[in-house]
Amino acid sequence: MTTTKKLKKKAAAAAEKRERKERRFAAEENYASRVAIGAGMLGSLALGAGVYATWIRDQSASYGGYLVAAGALVLGGAMYRTGADPGTLRVGDAGVAFEKNNELTRVLWCDIEKLSLDGDRVNVKGKSGSLGFPRAAFPQGLAVLAAQAGRRVPDVVKLSRAELEALGSPKESNGELVPIEEIQVTGRHCKATDKPISFERDARLCPNCCEVYLKDQVPTKCLTCGRELGTRATLA
Ligand SMILES: [Zn+2]
Repeated sequence: MTTTKKLKKKAAAAAEKRERKERRFAAEENYASRVAIGAGMLGSLALGAGVYATWIRDQSASYGGYLVAAGALVLGGAMYRTGADPGTLRVGDAGVAFEKNNELTRVLWCDIEKLSLDGDRVNVKGKSGSLGFPRAAFPQGLAVLAAQAGRRVPDVVKLSRAELEALGSPKESNGELVPIEEIQVTGRHCKATDKPISFERDARLCPNCCEVYLKDQVPTKCLTCGRELGTRATLA
C-alpha cells in the first residue's frame, strides 16, 4: 500500500516537471576519419619518404624537400577534414535529430512517415524533411533509434526482422544523456481540430510521440500513436 502511494507520488512529480531527454551519439571515430585515412596515409608516406630522403640518407636527395612539403600539405588537409564536424545523432523524447555545425534538424516521432534501411543508410522520412544516417557512423545510436521507434510509433517502422537484427541490440545506456531545450510548437496545428497553435502555453503534447493538441482539445487517446493521453498530455 505504502509502496503504491510512493510510486504514484513519484509519477506525478515527474509529469509536472515535463523534463524531456535524449541521447547524443557522436559519429564513430573510425567513420569520421575514414575519408581522411586514405589521404592521411599518402601524406604520411610522402612525408616519411621526404624526411628519409632529406635527413637520413647520406647523400640528401634534391626531391626530398618537395616530398616533405607535399606530404605535410596532404597530411594537413587530411587532419583538417578529420577536424570537420561529421555530425551527431540524437534520439529520445523528441524524436530523432541530426546535429551538425551547431545546427539541429529534428523530426518528431509524430512527424515520421517512414523509417527504413536503404543500403548502408537508415533513412527517416519526415512530413517536412528527411534525415539519413550512415550505419557505419552511428551503429549504437541507430540501434536505439530503431528500438525506440518500434515502441513509440511502430506503424512507420519499415524494417524487416533481419534488418532489425543487423542494426543490433540497443544499449540505452550508450550515448550522452542531454536535456531537450525546446520543442517548436507554435505554427503547428492541433491534431484534433487542425487549428493553429499560436501560443506555446496553449499547446499540450503527447509524451510518447510529441503530437500537439490545443489544451482544450486533448483526446483521451493520442490520435497519432494511440496511447492513453487525457491528463497525461504535457506542456511544450
Ligand atoms: Zn502520441
